[in-house]
Amino acid sequence: MKPVDLRSDTVTRPTAAMRAAMAAAEVGDDVYGEDPTVVALERRVAADLGFRAGLFLPSGTQANLVALLCHCARGDEYVVGMDAHTYRYEGGGAAVLGSIQPQPLPQAPDGTLPLAAVEAAIKPDDPHFARTRLLALENTWHGRPLPLDYLSGARALCDRHGLALHLDGARLYNAAVACGVPVRTVAAPFDSVSVCLSKGLGAPVGSVLVGDPDLVHAGRRWRKMLGGGWRQAGLLAAAALHALDHHVGRLADDHARAARLADGLRGLPGLEVDGAHTNMVFVRVDPARRPALAAAARAAGIVLPGGDGPVLRLVVHLDVDDEGIARTVALFAGVAPAAATIAP
Ligand SMILES: *Cc1c(COP(=O)(O)O)cnc(C)c1O
Repeated sequence: MKPVDLRSDTVTRPTAAMRAAMAAAEVGDDVYGEDPTVVALERRVAADLGFRAGLFLPSGTQANLVALLCHCARGDEYVVGMDAHTYRYEGGGAAVLGSIQPQPLPQAPDGTLPLAAVEAAIKPDDPHFARTRLLALENTWHGRPLPLDYLSGARALCDRHGLALHLDGARLYNAAVACGVPVRTVAAPFDSVSVCLSKGLGAPVGSVLVGDPDLVHAGRRWRKMLGGGWRQAGLLAAAALHALDHHVGRLADDHARAARLADGLRGLPGLEVDGAHTNMVFVRVDPARRPALAAAARAAGIVLPGGDGPVLRLVVHLDVDDEGIARTVALFAGVAPAAATIAP
């Protein structure tokens, strides 16, 4: 039985065609700027996103940190969502390594940072305060694409207040596919964008940070300092280029399967289902049923997220096919309480 791993879209394995592209890659020493495949990837992503320069890095965490270090100096501040990846899930890198103060704000349920709250958080130029320099957004947010008109509103706010605007676009391609627009439309309002090749696009490793040539030049120094100066990284860049050539269009399949999964689960008693805006479905399960669900999942070859929180995030990706979706719906159906026992 083929395992169905729904924990994250980071779990995808390189396909045979991707491995062949990696094996055939021309490589060189990227610290010397001599890896032609890395250079091609950086140019390709920059062009796709409508920017003038790109930088290939080992992870999204490093790409975001490098962007923050480029935009903000010691004693500067960035405004960010309280649950945003850059603030919450990246080890506090901006504060630890950059002496950059975060100003976290609660996000609205759709992942937007209300612009009035952002505006109110901007500090006056006064020695009491850190200097507010940057607004950082995340798209998709918990699988939701941010509304395009919200992004232009954020740009206008940043222009009014002299802030830079960074996007953690780990799943930018999912956002663009869901909105039915080119990625450059989603990226256009930003001064810098990080994008993960290692999530739904299915490459084994890597992120690209795009910006203007000055930012990327500064970013290259920070990347080296952070230990991200890599050598024959063209093997990985080849996988990323293969993903861009072959795995962007198919993100729509992931979204369709996530929608089918959500529909299947919505039909079952005792579950609260949210999402399927892109490739993620959120399911609230009675904690008392979690042990039975976990045991049944093991038996069915389905890997669910760990922890004992009430909401499970199920992520659909390259290695989840139609049979996997059907098996997952059947798993939840098998441990569902009888419909009649649910109070109206
Ligand atoms: C995965 C992810 C990152 C970081 O990527 P890594 O490559 O795991 O460091 C950043 N932001 C978001 C929203 C992510 O999902």
